[in-house]
Amino acid sequence: MGKRVLVTGGAGFIGSHLCRYLLAQGHEVLCLDNFFTGRKSNIDELLDLHGFELIRHDITESILLEVDQIFNLACPASPVHYQYNPVKTVKTNVMGVINMLGLAKRVRARILQASTSEVYGDPKVHPQTENYWGHVNPIGQRSCYDEGKRVAETLMMDYHRQNQVDVRIARIFNTYGPHMLVDDGRVVSNFIVQALRGEDLTIYGDGRQTRSFCYVDDLVLGLTRLMESPGFSGPVNLGNPCEFTMLELAQLVLELTGSAAGISYLPLPADDPVQRRPDISKAEIELDWTPKVQLREGLQQVISYFRRVLNS
Ligand code: NAD
Ligand code: UDP
Repeated sequence: MGKRVLVTGGAGFIGSHLCRYLLAQGHEVLCLDNFFTGRKSNIDELLDLHGFELIRHDITESILLEVDQIFNLACPASPVHYQYNPVKTVKTNVMGVINMLGLAKRVRARILQASTSEVYGDPKVHPQTENYWGHVNPIGQRSCYDEGKRVAETLMMDYHRQNQVDVRIARIFNTYGPHMLVDDGRVVSNFIVQALRGEDLTIYGDGRQTRSFCYVDDLVLGLTRLMESPGFSGPVNLGNPCEFTMLELAQLVLELTGSAAGISYLPLPADDPVQRRPDISKAEIELDWTPKVQLREGLQQVISYFRRVLNS
């Protein structure tokens, strides 16, 4: 039977895909967003659909809604955006998460927190397993996000232990797809937009740092499988374990776009993790989930998307 599902950050990149998927599964969707990095254009096609409702709201303020499930995705995810107002980023991850947990407690909803691979910081264990506690700078430029998300996980665990709130924690690794902003600042959208404009691709550092990129459709399936999983067994990594250097990514984007753009090297931002790859054994065993979309295939989708956006 269809449920009433709240998606915070629902007008953002991942949230908008999640809303569309949930509606297609027959659920009612309440999409809540303060439109900091979210865009109405991401959910345009959903606005007239039966069962979809849009609420302009900031999760740092409390709200009372009747729902069965909450996907708490509200939080800027690109370093450029979460560092724009770092105090607000911390508030979103502390006050915002307390508000959503308070709501879940009051209406007995199950709540899934969008956590991140950033809880592992600049990891000294590779690939990262869920039982690794991480290597995070508590006072750096990335801390508002990394430590914010770590506190969000702490709050989820404490509401679970203290108030029996039914929680799920997804540790999401770098995800890409259509609906990323042109000026998002993250590497996949930067490289594709630069290549399509014929501008140099900006590699930070020497380009040998690694990331593992998951296509958004795969991620949405993982998030919903985790939400529907019968019991809470701790945080679960969701990501694609295929690991690439930023130099490899740049070369692939140049090849797929057929762009004659060059590459320029810029300084590496502080505390930029050297390597990142998820161990997804837990998701494979407990959720029967494994990502299907290869980077080359996913990038082609995003390239088509940005071609349309840049030409419109
Ligand atoms: P995004 O910036 O596109 O989406 C975030 C959405 O939350 C936006 O629509 C924004 O307007 C909204 N928002 C921000 N602060 C809010 C607030 N205080 N109240 C209400 N709405 C607010 O980012 P995304 O990539 O879609 O990320 C979604 C979630 O997934 C985030 O919580 C992010 O931390 C997490 N995550 C994403 C990735 C990734 O690679 N995309 C990786 C790890 C974790
Ligand atoms: N990066 C880059 N050029 C860009 C944007 C990012 O080389 O134009 C690098 C960045 O330094 C990092 C990697 O790409 O090493 C991934 O960055 P992103 O901001 O996408 O995600 P995160 O660092 O949060 O994983």
